[in-house]
Amino acid sequence: DANKETLGFQTEAKQLLHLMIHSLYSSKEIFLRELISNASDAIDKLRFAALSDESLLEGQGDYQVQVDVDKEAKTITISDNGVGMNREEVVEHLGTIAKSGTAAFLESLTGDQQKDSQLIGQFGVGFYSAFIVADRVEVHTRKAGSSADQGVVWESHGESEFSVEPREKVSRGTSITLFLKEDSEEFADDFRVRSVIKKYSDHIAVPVMMLKPTPPPAAEEEESDEDVVDVPEYEAVNEATALWTRSRTEVSDEEYEEFYKHISHDFEAPRSWSHNKVEGKFEYTSLLYIPQKAPFDMWNRDMARGLKLYVQRTFIMDEAEQFLPLYLRFVKGVVDSNDLPLNVSREILQQESSVDAMRSALTKRVLDMLGKLAKKEGDEYGQFWSEFGQVLKEGPAEDFANKEKIARLLRFSSTHTDAEAQDQSLEDYVSRMQEGQEKIFYVVAENFNTAKNSPHLEVFRKKGIEVLLLSDRVDDWLMNHMQDFDGKSFQDVARGALELATDSEEDKAEQEKLQKEAEGLVERMAKVLEDKVAEVRATARLTDSPACLVVGDYDMGAQMKRIMEAAGQ
Ligand code: ADP
Ligand code: MG
Repeated sequence: DANKETLGFQTEAKQLLHLMIHSLYSSKEIFLRELISNASDAIDKLRFAALSDESLLEGQGDYQVQVDVDKEAKTITISDNGVGMNREEVVEHLGTIAKSGTAAFLESLTGDQQKDSQLIGQFGVGFYSAFIVADRVEVHTRKAGSSADQGVVWESHGESEFSVEPREKVSRGTSITLFLKEDSEEFADDFRVRSVIKKYSDHIAVPVMMLKPTPPPAAEEEESDEDVVDVPEYEAVNEATALWTRSRTEVSDEEYEEFYKHISHDFEAPRSWSHNKVEGKFEYTSLLYIPQKAPFDMWNRDMARGLKLYVQRTFIMDEAEQFLPLYLRFVKGVVDSNDLPLNVSREILQQESSVDAMRSALTKRVLDMLGKLAKKEGDEYGQFWSEFGQVLKEGPAEDFANKEKIARLLRFSSTHTDAEAQDQSLEDYVSRMQEGQEKIFYVVAENFNTAKNSPHLEVFRKKGIEVLLLSDRVDDWLMNHMQDFDGKSFQDVARGALELATDSEEDKAEQEKLQKEAEGLVERMAKVLEDKVAEVRATARLTDSPACLVVGDYDMGAQMKRIMEAAGQ
């Protein structure tokens, strides 16, 4: 065929395909979840596009996914009447991986199948999972609104190349046929497939239809009617109501977890969730999830973030960023508003006052959910913190209104444990403060060991006063925005002249005596270091080290300086 074109997969796509086939083998049934999830996404997209152009529906507005199995042919076909794809889109979406962070992800793989399968899960499994069970996949698709002759077939054996060619398609949407491998023929079995769909796709809002099981042979007298042609009858296998519209008591944990996997493209179950229906001035339903693991691109500026937005149960957009602040960018979920117009755009969202109100309510929900997690027994919160703590530390700078709430959620390393794990809360610190101690002391350094061994800590260790040990990149930034906690102000131990309220009269006398004795030395040193330092001072703060550098009260912190220098300032 002159119109058939053979193309190579993008290198990253090829690598991912290979990995998928080889490390997800033990959970191969997930391919069905992925393909149904894509079908449902495609229907959501069409439903949205049809809001402004009804002609796209071609007079057929009953959305559904259909699954057909053929035991003889050893195939399973997943069809949808969603938005479909044109030739260009097929090549782009099924031949390349556009996701940011793909290269970094592939580099992080270890070669250990078990570990890698977890990582792939986090990355998102997607369409290529079809090749876990199939050695040939055929995608026949046509974009909604285009003519039947615009249909395209994409075909591949899941190795290094795929082909595309035109083929007429009367109905809009996509039909994906999997030619099953010998060891996966179970997926051509009606009963087996039904149970997988029940398990993974109950929460999908469109019906997933399968052929009704053939009824037992009818009694003879009824069979005589020769005019009746057997029209295959289909029935919905899943529940097919949008999960968030159901009441909390009706939804099982498994369903919440599966729904999370569908919207987040995550492989693992979420750490926790919060499902709420709000009535009153603004009416909306939200279902928010905290993932277990940080995504690969959490530090990438264009990482996918935000909630899935619905208006009166109609899907409007993915990644609606306006509903949560940046420091909660790891939260996944759905918000379904009753008040926003169906034709709402990103621009409109930015100006809507109801969106601001929802954003602050949703922010509180997430912070409360985290507060609850922190109170839970065990190490749940510790695990959360090690994945997302650094992002949460951006909170006090971004969200003045919730500073206090966020501060309670922060965790630090401190001289109390002298361990690198960040597991001490400010409340813990305050409860251990010494009598007369008015400040919360901290030191910032470029890494944990430097912080822990800072000469500035000597006097504190001697007096048994706890100091927070900060060494994350964001810590200087964070501390610039933390004025006080529980009425106690924060004090960088490397800044200015340090007066400890716990200093006794004796300490003070000693300091004075020391200053007198060292007068000559201090003068000489100040001369030598004239252009390098602002001042030389004798101190009783050091017990082991001969000298240390101190930053002025209003100067930039040492770490901030490094960041500015790295940025070329
Ligand atoms: P993801 O769903 O995370 O985007 P997938 O690998 O599952 O990634 O799918 C890749 C892309 O292929 C989708 O984003 C979509 O553009 C396209 N696609 C897959 N399945 C369908 C379908 N049934 N209908 C229309 N487009 C689809
Ligand atoms: Mg997908």
